Amino acid sequence: MQGGAAALAYRGRTASIGFAHGPFVRVNAGTSGERVAGSLVEEALALRKAIDAASGQIAELAAIAGGEAAQILEFQVALLEDEDFIEAIFAAIGEGDAADVAWCSALEAQIADYNAAEDEYLKARSSDLADLRDRVMAILRGGVGQALTVPSGAVVCADDLPPSRFLEIDWSGGGGLALLRGSPTSHVAMLARARGIPMVVQLGAVPELGATALLDGEGATLELDPSAEQLRLFEKRRDIHRKSRASARAILRRPTALWRGERIKLFINIQHVDDLAHADAQYADGIGLMRTEFLLTGRGGLPDEEAQFEAYDAVLRWAGQRPVTIRTFDAGGDKPVPGFTLDSEANPFLGVRGLRLCLARPEIFAVQLRALARAAVRGNLKVMFPMVTSADELEAGRKLFAEVVRRLQADGIAATLPELGIMVEVPAAALAINSFKAAFFSIGSNDLAQYVLACDRSNGALTPLMDPLHPAVFELIARTAEHGRRAGVSVSLCGDIASDPRCLPALLNCGLRELSVTTSALAQIKQTIDRLSSGGSLG
Ligand code: PEP
Ligand code: MG
Repeated sequence: MQGGAAALAYRGRTASIGFAHGPFVRVNAGTSGERVAGSLVEEALALRKAIDAASGQIAELAAIAGGEAAQILEFQVALLEDEDFIEAIFAAIGEGDAADVAWCSALEAQIADYNAAEDEYLKARSSDLADLRDRVMAILRGGVGQALTVPSGAVVCADDLPPSRFLEIDWSGGGGLALLRGSPTSHVAMLARARGIPMVVQLGAVPELGATALLDGEGATLELDPSAEQLRLFEKRRDIHRKSRASARAILRRPTALWRGERIKLFINIQHVDDLAHADAQYADGIGLMRTEFLLTGRGGLPDEEAQFEAYDAVLRWAGQRPVTIRTFDAGGDKPVPGFTLDSEANPFLGVRGLRLCLARPEIFAVQLRALARAAVRGNLKVMFPMVTSADELEAGRKLFAEVVRRLQADGIAATLPELGIMVEVPAAALAINSFKAAFFSIGSNDLAQYVLACDRSNGALTPLMDPLHPAVFELIARTAEHGRRAGVSVSLCGDIASDPRCLPALLNCGLRELSVTTSALAQIKQTIDRLSSGGSLG
């Protein structure tokens, strides 16, 4: 969609749903200007000052933004504190490079490395590095890293926008973000979703000028200087969206989701206690999946027992009597962790990841198990192992856990062994489900689909083949649900399809009664169950 008689319209990809109508503002995240180089000593001093000033600015932004946003900015601070990296730049200055030249070429090299990564997550980090490059360059060139000021409610358009620039904008009056490049998996997309700011990426070429814009995060369109007819259609779509959200939120407040008279438990997936700040989280029946490997990616290396205990305890306190299922570290595959995962594997998705890695590194695993055993006395905790292939692995994990509990108790520390379950995400586990003596099962349909369909889940080129409801995947889901029913063991599903209303009929019809979804999908999923239950369509 482009051109057209009335006004310019562009289509991209959705990164965050919602609608924005406001002034069109093109921003340039880069910097310009020249500087005159001084002596070697002056250049080294200039870079030192610029790095310190940039660190200060980022720390200030992180303090204001808090939570997830602060974690994102830590990536930039970590690079500024990486002595080997910074020393190499000062060495280049020592050999005659100007401060801005040395800085820029070091950052460009890093950006190129990240851009060349096959992993989408690492690729997306390159925009964080570009942000850092530009911030320090702006300071070196005499700017002070001026904050972006845009009119309230503006549709901000940029080539790409780094997280710190996003956080500088005051979004309190609404508005939206239109990126010519960008990715739905980038950090800035995560921030936009968390703040309810509509965002469309990969719009391609958009003109520099325009007075007003309509951004439709659902249809992934940007319309510049719209005609009266375009505006009318936009407002109609926006009203439908608002009404649907309002009715979904009304249903969300009801105590239980019922499907044909049967209770459906709706849990949420989280990574961090801050995720529970989402207004809808309080309506969940509990936490169905807490991914813990994200604790490993912060600064300062692997978290110690105390830091982990606090993270788990905070979630249990929030949940009260409600169940909290914490998954032990699922590092490896698309989640590399320096100092923990192996970097020499040709096929990391088929390598030493998840429980395999934890059993291979008992000294790291035992720290997590200690923290979990201590947290288990404080609430309704269940623990599950990821990437389990054989019953022996479950038993090896259980043995280690029991030993950890025995030692803690021997030292007079309050601890207990929580209920132990497994993720069903390796086809072998689904096929041999009878062999596992687990207290519960949680189907990881993201990985199950990856392994059954032989499609790398992070490879965008395989999207058309990557169908989690392919009959072969679905047979394993249904088989696991059926086993749970016959054996009287609870089975939930925590992969992305649980958050997709289109997949609900199949999941409910195959006997699943527990689903764990992303918090922002909770209202819509509850509403869809309600509609299906009363004989309606998906709507
Ligand atoms: C899954 O594989 O479906 C799952 C929920 O876990 P993750 O996406 O973290 O691998
Ligand atoms: Mg998984």
